[in-house]
Amino acid sequence: MSSEARRAAIQSISRKHPLAPLGEVEKLEDLFGRNVFGLPQMRARLPESAYRALESCIERGHELDHGLADLVASAMKEWAVERGATHFTHWFQPMTGSTAEKHDSFIDLENGKLLLQFSGKALIKGEPDASSFPSGGLRATFEARGYTAWDPTSPAFIRETASGATLCIPTAFCSWTGEALDKKTPLLRSCEALNRSAMRMLRLLGDEQVQFVYPTVGAEQEYFLVDRELHLQRPDLVATGRTLFGARPPKGQELEDHYFGSISPRVLAFMHEAECELWKLGVPVKTRHNEVAPSQFEIAPIFERTTLSTDHNMLTMEVLRQVAQRHGFQCLLHEKPFAGINGSGKHNNWSMATDTGVNLLDPGQTPETNMRFVVVLTAVIRAIDLHADLLRVSIAHAANDHRLGANEAPPAIISIYLGEELEAVVESLVSGGAGPNRDADRQTMRLGVGTLPPLPRDTTDRNRTSPFAFTGNKFEFRAVGSGQSIATPNIFLNTIVADSLDFLAAEIEKLRDSAGLAGAVQQVVQQVLTQHKRVIFGGNGYSAEWHAEAESRGLPNLRTAVDAIGVYSAPDKVEIFERHRVLSKKEVESRTNIMFEAYAKAIAIEAQSAAGIASSMLLPAATTYQRNLAESIESARRAGAKTLDRQERRLQDVVGRIESALGALETLQTATEKAERHHGEPAGHAKLYRDEVIPAMNALRESCDVLETLVDDDLWPLPKYREMLFVH
Ligand code: ADP
Ligand code: MG
Repeated sequence: MSSEARRAAIQSISRKHPLAPLGEVEKLEDLFGRNVFGLPQMRARLPESAYRALESCIERGHELDHGLADLVASAMKEWAVERGATHFTHWFQPMTGSTAEKHDSFIDLENGKLLLQFSGKALIKGEPDASSFPSGGLRATFEARGYTAWDPTSPAFIRETASGATLCIPTAFCSWTGEALDKKTPLLRSCEALNRSAMRMLRLLGDEQVQFVYPTVGAEQEYFLVDRELHLQRPDLVATGRTLFGARPPKGQELEDHYFGSISPRVLAFMHEAECELWKLGVPVKTRHNEVAPSQFEIAPIFERTTLSTDHNMLTMEVLRQVAQRHGFQCLLHEKPFAGINGSGKHNNWSMATDTGVNLLDPGQTPETNMRFVVVLTAVIRAIDLHADLLRVSIAHAANDHRLGANEAPPAIISIYLGEELEAVVESLVSGGAGPNRDADRQTMRLGVGTLPPLPRDTTDRNRTSPFAFTGNKFEFRAVGSGQSIATPNIFLNTIVADSLDFLAAEIEKLRDSAGLAGAVQQVVQQVLTQHKRVIFGGNGYSAEWHAEAESRGLPNLRTAVDAIGVYSAPDKVEIFERHRVLSKKEVESRTNIMFEAYAKAIAIEAQSAAGIASSMLLPAATTYQRNLAESIESARRAGAKTLDRQERRLQDVVGRIESALGALETLQTATEKAERHHGEPAGHAKLYRDEVIPAMNALRESCDVLETLVDDDLWPLPKYREMLFVH
């Protein structure tokens, strides 16, 4: 039966192409930011003094006082109600990795009369029941209440549906005792840490103008689109986001004919609507194109302040999913929906900016700006070398293990790519004071005197194999997974770079009186680069030689998420998070537990889905085919014709292998569940899933994928790779 549904779904696809010409279209400038209560809306609706106070809270990330909150709330409510909003919600980012919301309507009754109410108190604080969010043991259920607090650096916005609108207030989410239960709180704290340390450094380098520094991020988002009717016929995609079965199609991505190819009209119609929705929400999406794999695409925004771009990336994922459904697509954000075909990632472009409009990773034209650039660059190099393992933790989850190092995404070894020109600059800084320079071509760099050689802006992605690449005026962290929040990678980046800036500042301070500022900077930069330049690698990150070379350089290679996660709560890491007031020991430990638990749960769900599909869909198809085949063989024999018994023998063999693989997987699953109940130790438990359950799942898949190539196509119950990837 289900094979008929499969056929019908494929046939219906050609009817889904939008043929109608463009109707009335809205102008881009009318759309952008329409549903955001941003600075212009605040200015128009608030008294001048209140607006100024709010603006300064936003710039500096300070809290609002109650009087101001009441004014803002009332202006916000008026604006939202005018735009059709009936409800408001605090919109937050718990440890589930997605966003959460609990709606309240604006209605209130006074003596039976309807009032629309929204107080400053309701704006700045909410009290959702937190007992069902993952807390990694941070919070016992008797103290389950959490509270959400508005983060004024992120503006409120309205989400529209066909039948109404909701005012969303981006918030941080904490326990009553002040511990972070979300990703936003530590992100905000890490931005403060970076501001403190960068300000200290800039003052030391003589900048008296700058008032604050903030990290910036632009997150390029990859995704797949699959026809929704086909998607719904794949219980594995529905439950786990990836295909647990599926023979490789005859044509994959070998021809590289999809990358930057012309975008099909049906996909383009979807993209356009998604972009309009995002523009309304103030998300500055800029670029769209086909990606390397068939049916894979990318959307990229203009970079923004990290707290905002983190919100905006969450919204982007949500809007892509919702709009895809309106176009009869399913948007897949999983890191590896299809085996043997490139998975999806998210390039996290990261830099730091000042309130005076300077990008701190911009090489600059004068000796002073060069010095600043070299100091900041040195701080980043040191940070990545010391904490490569931590960056690996920030991207560690079950799904990302499928793509890291699989010749499609950077390896699990975290190294830095600088490009030839900048690498030469680093080399000359390293050899700076170290006696005569043997290489006649290489000039010695003197900080504070000369300028840097011109560095080309890397617009071409010259080394895609590097996980952390300098691209002209920012670093691009390329190992981030497509479906994950960018909060944790940025929390870690901000914290470790803050820590390195502090280290450099302290060292420069020590030498400044004797060597002068430029001399002190020169010495410190030279010493730090000499010590940490091993993390710089310009070669092919996919090659086997790099694995050996990285090992000899002492760089960590944490191959799986389970290898990596434990690093999070190592004493030296905890010390850094605590020192910069980003996360406490308790918070770090709870996050480590949550990550291990999430890993185990993801694999457990996959194992259950795989076993269910194999026993209730694939084996029955095999049985029907075996019966049909036996009948044909029998009648052929009676007619004295050649028979198909070779096919029958192969079928029997593979069915036998599936049955035993299925038995093994089911036994294991029961065993691991038992182990979980008895030990409750998240790390050991995750390891069991990695070492035992995944191999058993792989064995089951291998035989099932052979079965797919044997069974009569008319009987096969699951949409095939060639149908999901090439038909749209
Ligand atoms: P590519 O990486 O393909 O060369 P771009 O250089 O245009 O493309 O930038 C990719 C992403 O990096 C975009 O989202 C862009 O906004 C972002 N980006 C550019 N400059 C910065 C910056 N200073 N800080 C953070 N992100 C940035
Ligand atoms: Mg890029």
